Amino acid sequence: MSVVSIRGAGKTFGSGHTAVRAVDNVSLEVDAGDIVLVMGPSGSGKTTLLSMIGTLMRPTEGQILIGGRDISRLSGRQLSELRLHEFGFVFQTFNLLSALTAEENVMLPLLTAGVPRGQARTDARLALEKLGLGRRLRSLPRDLSGGEKQRVAIARALANGPSLVLADEPTANLDSRTGREVTLLLCAIACRENRAVIIVSHDPRLRDAAKRVVTIDDGRVTAVEPGDHDAHCPMHPGVPAEQG
Ligand code: ADP
Ligand code: MG
Repeated sequence: MSVVSIRGAGKTFGSGHTAVRAVDNVSLEVDAGDIVLVMGPSGSGKTTLLSMIGTLMRPTEGQILIGGRDISRLSGRQLSELRLHEFGFVFQTFNLLSALTAEENVMLPLLTAGVPRGQARTDARLALEKLGLGRRLRSLPRDLSGGEKQRVAIARALANGPSLVLADEPTANLDSRTGREVTLLLCAIACRENRAVIIVSHDPRLRDAAKRVVTIDDGRVTAVEPGDHDAHCPMHPGVPAEQG
């Protein structure tokens, strides 16, 4: 069974002559271990598509199934459970809480999901160590570089063992080298742990990290091509030095 199954999904904002067709008849299957880059220019519908998959926005047409369950049939409570337990979100702006350390930022969603504090701390440390941040547990966001902040955010997204990681322009606030490194690291860990990943970005350099590249334009899928993930992802990739 696919982790995500999108069947003819569409989203129209507004109505009449001001209606905007942001996503138009998109179908896509994403399996465990798959890493999909959705690429398209600004305004092509990437964030809208990702928001619908993440159950933050409802499609106006079509169906989205997560783990075989049609999300339009789930209650608000079931949807928030899904977001807490099955999804990991990564954002362009990192979205770390400035008063909390790296470790506490990663612990927060675990605590919200009901993980006991001691276990949450252990899980958070493990997740940060995988991202090469074992020496940054007590650092506040203001003392971290952009690349480190995004690695904390990725640790936070992965810590609860999500089946699906959703990343919206994760490199937009990073220099190109750091952005590429951080994305390759996310994809290497996700691949090793058999998680599904969907990254949306206008950055074509990220095709290195992906197993499939889906191009969208004006809300429509115009191409599906293989990415270069395998060339950059040995079975046991090392963690980069603490930099960037
Ligand atoms: P991308 O993430 O690829 O830049 P978006 O999904 O944000 O694209 O937007 C796709 C289209 O939908 C754009 O034309 C945008 O202006 C429009 N749009 C996005 N969100 C809304 C909204 N809440 N209300 C009206 N139009 C929207
Ligand atoms: Mg966007």
